[in-house]
Amino acid sequence: MSRRTPPLVPRLRPHADSVFAEMSQLALEVGAINLGQGFPDTDGPSELKEIATAAIQDGSGNQYPPSIGIPELRQAIAAHQARFYGIELDPKTDVVVTTGASEALVATLLALVDAGDEVVMFEPWFDIYSAAISMANGQRVGVPMSGPGLRPDIDALRAAITPKTRMILLNSPHNPTGVVFTREELQAVATIAIENDILVLSDEAYEHLWFDDGEHIPICTLPQMFERTITVGSGGKSFSFTGWKVGWATGPRELIAAVRAARQHLSFASGGPFQYAMAHGLGLPDQYYRELRSDLALKRDLLCAGLEELGFGVIRPQGTYFATTDVRPLGYTDGLTFCRELPNRAGVVAIPHGVFCDDVEVGKPYVRWAFCKRTGVLQAAIDRLRAGFS
Ligand SMILES: *Cc1c(COP(=O)(O)O)cnc(C)c1O
Repeated sequence: MSRRTPPLVPRLRPHADSVFAEMSQLALEVGAINLGQGFPDTDGPSELKEIATAAIQDGSGNQYPPSIGIPELRQAIAAHQARFYGIELDPKTDVVVTTGASEALVATLLALVDAGDEVVMFEPWFDIYSAAISMANGQRVGVPMSGPGLRPDIDALRAAITPKTRMILLNSPHNPTGVVFTREELQAVATIAIENDILVLSDEAYEHLWFDDGEHIPICTLPQMFERTITVGSGGKSFSFTGWKVGWATGPRELIAAVRAARQHLSFASGGPFQYAMAHGLGLPDQYYRELRSDLALKRDLLCAGLEELGFGVIRPQGTYFATTDVRPLGYTDGLTFCRELPNRAGVVAIPHGVFCDDVEVGKPYVRWAFCKRTGVLQAAIDRLRAGFS
């Protein structure tokens, strides 16, 4: 191979560099507190660990599980969707277990998006969406989260639909903004999808992480939406074991058959012992889910109060692991510049929204901070910020 030809295919070159790698490296160099990447720094329920360990010791989880997932987990996913949302699923045909929500998203895009098809999504978006659309040879089309609360711009969504639009890729609770879509917003998206006969891929990785008197509404529960929607869940996010990488997709059998077909040629099957543990987790009593939310809400309050006191414009998240701030009140115009200076100035790492956008203006002044950390870590981060910005 010629030395001048970069080996990576052109359509993946824009996805080669990761701001997470850059910021984590910076964090290491200066010993910064990393509020960049979204993973909890405490483990989920210990009974899930015991089940996974037992499935290793007794051998039940040690060889290839079925590609579509072990029956116990598919049954538990179906029961969970019925219990929380009234969605009726046949675990034999309407569910597929994947290697995290990530693989469910990639498999769905590879299975249902063809060369040149357009996929519309709200900006800023979760970074793997754009890369996976490129892998499928599709075309991404961004429409903004806008206004002071960064709400979905429904008019822009309507205007972005063309005869080539194959899919709307939705994410609520939304990473990075922390916005939880209202029923009215979801209904408006649904109406556009139905009128134009478009599929919806709904990333609900944070379905259990919403706060206050909010609620999570799967878009597939709206009239005429089940038949056109793939819904994705993440065991890592719902049970605070992000390293286990168990996720799933659910929906009507024809769509799930397509996702299963693509998925069996990706990782084929996912970690057996963890599937047994997740099956148990999905059946935990309501109290587990309530405490997960109230715990995280307290951490949100702690971080948001600290950031507000420092003068940031804080967009208080309704869900997810992340708070968003506007950095302009601190004299910056650009979140990327702010985030590059932050480790040296204050010993903290955060992520600029700009890296999750095609339109540089959409995310420019905003920065994302993860609050899924122990309160001592959050308090230390606030103390450092106070010292760095006073
Ligand atoms: C973390 C995350 C995922 C990926 O979930 P995994 O189960 O870890 O693969 C998908 N979507 C969003 C919005 C996320 O934040």
